Amino acid sequence: MRIGVLEAGGTKMVCAVGDENGQILERVSIATGKPEETMPDILEFFHQYSLDAIGIGTFGPVDLDRTSPTYGYIMSTPKILWRNFDLLGCIKKEFMLPIGLDTDVNASAIGEATYGVTKGLDSSIYITVGTGIGVGVILDGKAVHGMQHPEAGHILLSRHPEDTYAGRCPYHGNCLEGLASGPAIEERFGRKAKELPVDSVAWEIESYYLAQALVDFTLTYSPKRIVLGGGVMHQKQLFAMIREKYKKMLNHYVDTPYVRDLDNYIVPYSLNDDQGIMGCIRIGLDEMKR
Ligand code: ADP
Ligand code: ZN
Repeated sequence: MRIGVLEAGGTKMVCAVGDENGQILERVSIATGKPEETMPDILEFFHQYSLDAIGIGTFGPVDLDRTSPTYGYIMSTPKILWRNFDLLGCIKKEFMLPIGLDTDVNASAIGEATYGVTKGLDSSIYITVGTGIGVGVILDGKAVHGMQHPEAGHILLSRHPEDTYAGRCPYHGNCLEGLASGPAIEERFGRKAKELPVDSVAWEIESYYLAQALVDFTLTYSPKRIVLGGGVMHQKQLFAMIREKYKKMLNHYVDTPYVRDLDNYIVPYSLNDDQGIMGCIRIGLDEMKR
């Protein structure tokens, strides 16, 4: 079987072809420009193959309500050129195939849950801490959608007592993404996040915000494992710092074998960072079954 993959991002579009085992057979990366320039390149890539289905994981917000007239449209994104763009429709017009769609971070959550570090668990969370912060939630083996899709990267947090940074989310002063995304770290400290020393106060503040968010996610979604990925999580020292703060903040209120084993509860991404592409393969396969 051949599944086409589109991982749509604000800076690049990754197109790939995979099989039903999650094997990636081919991939290309296309810089994200205007839709009318970028989409033909994507379609041309897919036309090279005899595909059985396509799976898409896209930046959002995206309309995931199958009953909505704008199902598959990109919505009120800051990426103005893509606002109100009919992403799904544009591909559907060219391919009479099952085409599945979800958010980029749900695709990563699904990829890990199908092939990676949360395989076999019916509930899990994947968080990407990069240019933005996104959260994909799997419950009962399925990505949670709700009325649209959760936007848990924007949950409001208590400020670190020593943090005077205003936050960089245009909507909220003290949301997770505004305080803890890569660009927030860089704006707060005036230098590249990857150049900050491992003992910088930056990581103390960063782990404080991520631990708070993780506690909230345990309390609300009750996942059996939490996976952290994205550029900022290349700072491996964060994992131990997050676990330590998480333990203090949760204060044993939830006390299950999963949470007691924090080294296996709060974990880094797996799959060589291909969890998004592999999740899209699964999204395509699931659409075939519908
Ligand atoms: P995107 O979110 O755009 O898909 P990434 O997940 O790679 O891309 O996130 C990019 C962000 O991650 C950058 O803003 C940068 O601040 C941060 N980042 C990248 N590499 C590192 C690193 N080694 N250490 C800390 N932060 C990093
Ligand atoms: Zn926000």
